[in-house]
Amino acid sequence: MPITDTYQRPLHDLRISVTDRCNFRCAYCMPKEIFGRDHTFLPKDDLLTFEEIARLARILANLGVRKIRLTGGEPLLRREVEALIQMLAAIPGIEIAMTTNGTLLARKAQILKDAGLNRVTISLDALDDATFKQMNDVNVPVQTVLDGITAAEEAGLAPLKINMVVKRGVNDKDILPMARYFHGSGHILRFIEFMDVGSTNGWRMDQVVSAKEIAETINNQMPIELLEANYRGEVANRWRYTDGNGEIGIIASVTQPFCGNCTRLRLSAKGELFTCLFGTRGHDLRALLRDDASDNELHQRITAVWQTRADNYSEARSTETSTLPKVEMSYIGG
Ligand code: SAM
Ligand code: SF4
Ligand code: SF4
Repeated sequence: MPITDTYQRPLHDLRISVTDRCNFRCAYCMPKEIFGRDHTFLPKDDLLTFEEIARLARILANLGVRKIRLTGGEPLLRREVEALIQMLAAIPGIEIAMTTNGTLLARKAQILKDAGLNRVTISLDALDDATFKQMNDVNVPVQTVLDGITAAEEAGLAPLKINMVVKRGVNDKDILPMARYFHGSGHILRFIEFMDVGSTNGWRMDQVVSAKEIAETINNQMPIELLEANYRGEVANRWRYTDGNGEIGIIASVTQPFCGNCTRLRLSAKGELFTCLFGTRGHDLRALLRDDASDNELHQRITAVWQTRADNYSEARSTETSTLPKVEMSYIGG
């Protein structure tokens, strides 16, 4: 039976962080100064096992979840994540997606598809190596990610979504090159406003390039028009090229918040539920799982969490809320 929260929002999407580790150090997500060599990540025993995740996913499917996205950290760093996909694919009526930085995708795309993955979103912030490195602080050539994109196409995972976080003064000059590159490719490039998630990325409003500015930049060179949302809870504003060569998305989480339609629940790698990307506190399910709770007890706990949910951080964002401690994006997966 689908459940709703205090604002009558149904529970529909589940994001599962399968690891808090990453091979990138994107300045907007895991800045090297904080996530350096001596940063301690979660030990293996702290992570939910695949069986524990699949059990929770089955219970959540009974509560209305229809879409599960695996994320992280970098989800392809979790060993044999395809085994988890296989377990999730056995739950009827669920679409399974993944968000990845694409570095390991060339090797993994076919395995993931064969395991039952339906969709993949690949993060790519620039097309030239120098800007790419400035965004993620590691020495990975852009070509590695482009090879991952090709492998995903060949494995039958297309159409793909490509996520580009735009940071003023760093990669805003790449908006048009990226738009041109993916124009007519069949993939959907989504521009994301740099968000004040977590407490470590030194976010400032003047680093945000607004959705309006992004749309104008593209429209001036390649005319676009706004489309209707596909479904309630779709976070990206959809635009189509008027020449008929595809569409783009713009995620305006800072300048045009969409909390009223937020149908997402997040499960951290160690089994805490977060009802908002900007949550300060998770609800621990791992203790219940490891304390032999029945399915019914888990069902009741999750129902209570969702039914008392009253989050609307982005709509309430203010000088007061922006200084509150927040969970890191790499911890609950965006
Ligand atoms: N490592 C994977 C990746 O980068 O695709 C999955 C996890 S990552 C946290 C999920 C998404 O969140 C990525 O598309 C990333 O660009 C986005 N993201 C991370 N920090 C962000 C921020 N401060 N503002 C906006 N988007 C952000
Ligand atoms: Fe890693 Fe993704 Fe965060 Fe970049 S955005 S540091 S790739 S988890
Ligand atoms: Fe959903 Fe929280 Fe983001 Fe609002 S701020 S859209 S409630 S995750």
